[in-house]
Amino acid sequence: KTPTDVELIGKQEVIQMYKSRHQFAHKGMFGHSLLIGGSYGKMGAIVLASKAAMRAGSGMVTAYVPQIGVQILQTALPEVMAETDNFNGKVLEEIDFQTEANAIGIGPGMGTDPKTVKAVEGFLKAQKNPMVIDADAINIIAAHPALLEHVPNLSIFTPHLGELERLIGTWKDDFDRLEKTSKFAKTHDIIIVIKGAHTITTHDMKLYINDSGNPGLATAGSGDVLTGVITGLLAQGYHPMEAALMGVYFHGRAADIAINQYGIEGLMAGDVIEFLGRAYMDLF
Ligand code: AMP
Ligand code: MG
Repeated sequence: KTPTDVELIGKQEVIQMYKSRHQFAHKGMFGHSLLIGGSYGKMGAIVLASKAAMRAGSGMVTAYVPQIGVQILQTALPEVMAETDNFNGKVLEEIDFQTEANAIGIGPGMGTDPKTVKAVEGFLKAQKNPMVIDADAINIIAAHPALLEHVPNLSIFTPHLGELERLIGTWKDDFDRLEKTSKFAKTHDIIIVIKGAHTITTHDMKLYINDSGNPGLATAGSGDVLTGVITGLLAQGYHPMEAALMGVYFHGRAADIAINQYGIEGLMAGDVIEFLGRAYMDLF
């Protein structure tokens, strides 16, 4: 079966999914996000993802990082809590957390050290709820395909084309890529967000084409921001498909608003985070 059902996701579709907050809301109603990743020299990725989860509306955010990253994280983001493993390392060696998280995002800046690979294996085997899987978490699963069996259904993979190729193998052309990715997502009952100029999300042999975003996003860290946004939406109780589609839309929309101030060349990933609130406001 080839994917035939194609939908464009823009403002109107996101308005249908969006749930506004009532006056007496408290932070417990908007979930707790857990972002897992970071390593020596790559802490920025998990800082960006954690901050983006807060700006996307997650009630609370915890970052699970190696020892080396705790001070960095806590200094950069006073709103975010930090947890770490029992090792004194530059990389994660164990992923065993106390947090009662409503949603997990794993991968940004994590690296692929053999100790981290073991930690990810142990972690995945213990998971039941859909989560966001990005960057080095995708690379680790791609290198150990037996782990796919432990990935919870409806988990959201967010590969760029390099990560996608490692995960599903190579393709002949753009159509072949869409077909192979859709089939892979269907086989494993996951959602795949194929990142790029026109991000396409696939699940259950359907394709969803996002209509926001600009080449300003072709900059370091912008994918880490997306991971945080989708995790933050998942924590707020959105269905994984809604979280993926809304997350991709808001991320692109924030970048579209941000370039009015910074320009396409000037845009940095952190700027996209600062404009996320405006992307929500822009719905109405
Ligand atoms: P990553 O490569 O993981 O940092 O992710 C890059 C992010 O930027 C993804 O969300 C892409 O969809 C987005 N992106 C990259 N290049 C473009 C582009 N030319 N137009 C729109 N979005 C882009
Ligand atoms: Mg990335």
